Amino acid sequence: MPLSLKWSVQRITTKFEFKIARSAESYYDVIILELSDGEFTAFGEAAPSKRYEQGHKAILELLSEFKNQILELAVDQAESRQDQLEKLFPQSYSLQAALDTAFWDLHGQRLGTPLWKIFGATRQLVTSSYTIGISDLSIIPEKIKEAAAYPILKIKLGTDYDHDIMRAIRAETDKVLRVDVNEGWKTLDDARRGAEWLAEENVEFLEQPMPAHQLDDIARLRDFSPLPLVADENSVRPEDIPGLVGVYDGINIKLMKCGGLTNARKMVSLAHEHKFDIMLGCMIETSIGISAMSQLGSFARWLDLDGNVLIANDPYKGVGNQAGEIILLEKPGLGIEKS
Ligand SMILES: [Mg+2]
Repeated sequence: MPLSLKWSVQRITTKFEFKIARSAESYYDVIILELSDGEFTAFGEAAPSKRYEQGHKAILELLSEFKNQILELAVDQAESRQDQLEKLFPQSYSLQAALDTAFWDLHGQRLGTPLWKIFGATRQLVTSSYTIGISDLSIIPEKIKEAAAYPILKIKLGTDYDHDIMRAIRAETDKVLRVDVNEGWKTLDDARRGAEWLAEENVEFLEQPMPAHQLDDIARLRDFSPLPLVADENSVRPEDIPGLVGVYDGINIKLMKCGGLTNARKMVSLAHEHKFDIMLGCMIETSIGISAMSQLGSFARWLDLDGNVLIANDPYKGVGNQAGEIILLEKPGLGIEKS
């Protein structure tokens, strides 16, 4: 039976407003794909980030326009399929990711094998962090309480009241903290002072301290920084990785930036080749996107796969998250069910 493709827009609502250095949102419109061959139904998700592309409406137009070409893509030829996806949709990484994910899910279901096994990964994963977005100081105790079960917190900074935020968090908890500045510190002096100060606050690493285009400044910061530096906005696609040698210690890989599991696997290999530590991260996503990235989880030193537990209305069930422990399934493909 020929393939068929359906899509829908789902509005996912965050438990708390999700605020970072450059944006604040309380809901996100994501696009869910259902790819079927008549026997199996596979899922994919596009959670477009405004940092990298237009919103969901542009994706809906692309899906309508190119549906026939999509249905001709090969289910079992990931590399050539990804080449075609990049030619068809150069302006939408998240649509590439949604389609790549759905085709991988279908491939795994046909083989009767979980994707993590197909990828040569294992079920032994490190504990994922749980993100504390920027907020008024008065809300911080409530947010730390909401995160009580999670042993590792990722703190969003990059404001003009970073010290107050950290003081409010440290008044509530002595957990391991990771800090993501989301390009929020604009000068080398600010970044140097920030890195030095956070090293005294029992912080494990510093993510994207400065704007991606200030790569020279970040390289100078690294000469000084007592904390490892991890690239996020600087490590978008596989071709970015060689240029980060000497600037960063680790890279954050996300499906919605890189265009899917096929490219994420390439980034894992390149990270090994160039001796970068690997973090696997996410946008605010449902359990479809999170389950997809989790398939590569055992290749990472750090996991930040909490997008589905930050939302109040996840329409899907996939991998588990028990206090930050991501539980991979033995089901074929991604193992997604509607919740
Ligand atoms: Mg980040």
